[in-house]
Amino acid sequence: VRGPVCNQDLRTGKLCPVCAAKLKAGIITELDYELMKAVNRLANRKFLISTEIVRAFELDNMAMVFAKGNVGMLIGKQGKNIKELEKALGKKVRVIELGKPPKEVIEQVLGRAKVVAVNRLFKPEGEELKALVEEKAKKRIAASKQKTEEILSKVLKIPVEIGFSQ
Ligand SMILES: [Zn+2]
Repeated sequence: VRGPVCNQDLRTGKLCPVCAAKLKAGIITELDYELMKAVNRLANRKFLISTEIVRAFELDNMAMVFAKGNVGMLIGKQGKNIKELEKALGKKVRVIELGKPPKEVIEQVLGRAKVVAVNRLFKPEGEELKALVEEKAKKRIAASKQKTEEILSKVLKIPVEIGFSQ
């Protein structure tokens, strides 16, 4: 499985100078490393050849795992792999499929909240996405809104702002 930490490090059990530098610079986090170690211990990891783990972030005490390619294989039959990963990480795991339209990615991150629209804004400092989320989700999202925006901006590679529709 491809991911934010190279395979060699999973074999040797320690980070190579390149990955260690990325960790130090904050390009990857301990959670990325812990997740990759846990994925490497999955019983069916050999089927993950066409799955790529892009990043993992902690949000609301959950590990949000952003993946590409064969994401279903990462989830496993009836979420079997997710359960194993949750046990290893000691927290809930949500797998989010990247490579889908931003609206779908944002909805997956927000959980049950409906995204009404995603608009591309052109500002002097560059493009950004403005996601309009249904008003009734406002209270639930409020506390983690900023963190959610930061995570979405990183994985979608464009600044993301969350607003609420009337
Ligand atoms: Zn490495």
